[in-house]
Amino acid sequence: MNKNSGKKKLFVISGSSGVGKGTVLKSFLTKNPNFMLSISCTTRAPRKGEVDGVNYFFLSKDEFQNCIDNDKFLEWAEFAGNRYGTKKKYIKQCLEEGKDIILEIDTQGALQVKKQMPEAVLIFICPPSLETLENRLRGRHTEDEATIQKRMQEVKTELERAEKFDYKVINDDLANAVAELEKVIIGEQKC
Ligand code: 5GP
Repeated sequence: MNKNSGKKKLFVISGSSGVGKGTVLKSFLTKNPNFMLSISCTTRAPRKGEVDGVNYFFLSKDEFQNCIDNDKFLEWAEFAGNRYGTKKKYIKQCLEEGKDIILEIDTQGALQVKKQMPEAVLIFICPPSLETLENRLRGRHTEDEATIQKRMQEVKTELERAEKFDYKVINDDLANAVAELEKVIIGEQKC
């Protein structure tokens, strides 16, 4: 486990669907259990095995809209036809409890967080190539063809937004990517 010396920081990790950011993060969190992964709200239906309050807080469209209207989100975005958002209260609570927090959100949301909290550290996990990314996305067998096409269109826009991120980590090999992510995060904590 790595020692957390300084002030608590908010780390925001984004990457295109299928880039393997979930696997990289899971591995990082296993090695660094002092970090907490934020739980987002979404209007997307749960996938097989996903649990409400664990993977996401699954909200109806009306519930989500109500949170927007009442300014409850630190950030929110529409992604591939669904809405996703991070509750302000949840993040505030985690930081107050002295937790190191990681948000795994899309690039639109990440840039919104940076505007409101310039001290947040934005890290983008890149695929080695677009072809590798499309293959990985298909290999998950969780999305239909139309969704895959829609998500690949998002990739180019996301890569453009990633130019504004603080760091990029290429996921060519899991162990390398995790080591690189650790280097970035631990390095930032020392600042
Ligand atoms: P999935 O449906 O595959 O779980 O997630 C789709 C996308 O939504 C991913 O890029 C994921 O990072 C992003 N996402 C998850 N939670 C949030 C959130 O709270 N806010 C934003 N802006 N994006 C999110």
